[in-house]
Amino acid sequence: MEWPEIKGTKILPASDPRRAEEAIRCAATILQTGGVVAFPTETVYGLGADARSATAVQKIFTAKNRPGDNPLIVHVTGMEQVRELVREIPSRAYLLAQHFWPGPLTLVLPKSDLLPAVTTAGLLSVAVRVPDHPLALALIEAAALPVAAPSANLSGSPSPTTAGHVIADLAGRIDAVLDGGDCRVGVESTVLSLLAVPPVLLRPGGVTLERLRTVLEEDIIDLCRNGGEIRGTPPSPGMKYRHYAPSAPLYLVEMGEGQEDRIIALLKDLQARGMRPGLMLTTETAGAFTFPSHFPLEVVGSQKDPKTVARRLYGALRRLDSEAVDVIIAEGLAEEEMGRALMNRLRKAADRVIVAPNAKI
Ligand code: AMP
Ligand code: MG
Repeated sequence: MEWPEIKGTKILPASDPRRAEEAIRCAATILQTGGVVAFPTETVYGLGADARSATAVQKIFTAKNRPGDNPLIVHVTGMEQVRELVREIPSRAYLLAQHFWPGPLTLVLPKSDLLPAVTTAGLLSVAVRVPDHPLALALIEAAALPVAAPSANLSGSPSPTTAGHVIADLAGRIDAVLDGGDCRVGVESTVLSLLAVPPVLLRPGGVTLERLRTVLEEDIIDLCRNGGEIRGTPPSPGMKYRHYAPSAPLYLVEMGEGQEDRIIALLKDLQARGMRPGLMLTTETAGAFTFPSHFPLEVVGSQKDPKTVARRLYGALRRLDSEAVDVIIAEGLAEEEMGRALMNRLRKAADRVIVAPNAKI
């Protein structure tokens, strides 16, 4: 079968049911022969390679320009496949897997010798998860190997939630992309370390801290409050890098009293300095004012619906970037439920945070 290519990267159209099987077979063969393939998951697109092969995994780091000390998440189809990757599975891992797998929860466990150092960036632990996406599961199943996969973007830029985003960043740098349409969750998985008791939240994501606490019925240490600013050695290497950022500087206006007024004041100030801002706002704020129509505006959903905002976040940042704005002003949301993951990503992407006067820091 001949597949279309962009700069040598194969485009495998898997949302077309007539071609999905063949597309998956082609992607699986690439993985089995040491290549790298981007594929959809429910969170964002991942860039996959055989987790057991140092040379294959190295290609992920090279394609993404990812720092070598930032470990990858290994994607599997279920707990049976986790067994060979880890030294032990604590009982709370079974409990969490039962509730949240397949799904956007990554568990950090002590690693076995099967995985090369490059996959875990030299750590003695490994991050594992079962994605909740039929194409991702079909691909891992067909390849019959554990798939190491970080987000399929250039390191530091917004994560990809469509095959188009992957192509924009990685065409010519990877073997293929399995095109499965838009990602349902839109932000990355929650990362929870089970290396110690109590468990430690390393990254808020698709499964909320509130739900984890309910299922575990025990304390969870939240290292991610206020953007996860860590002093000293970060327990999760990914925490120390600027992430998820568009090329235009991003100003984050935190939620709180007078949020709209602060946005307007900022706009006026930028305008006075001859700059062209782009705006990422909630429905409520966008509806409360008439903004000059020549400012690019992305309305990402209601303040009461952080799930929808999460799904639209990265696409909105990429679109604003493509409008060549000088600054992106993004409105913050309340830091609860999915809002935690959103604010974590926005804080990491932000060049400047305009804090609310009543902020509890
Ligand atoms: P990405 O797949 O690009 O969304 O990034 C994976 C995230 O998981 C990064 O923040 C990593 O630092 C984190 N991670 C992966 N493996 C481990 C590990 N063994 N211990 C702690 N954090 C990890
Ligand atoms: Mg990433």
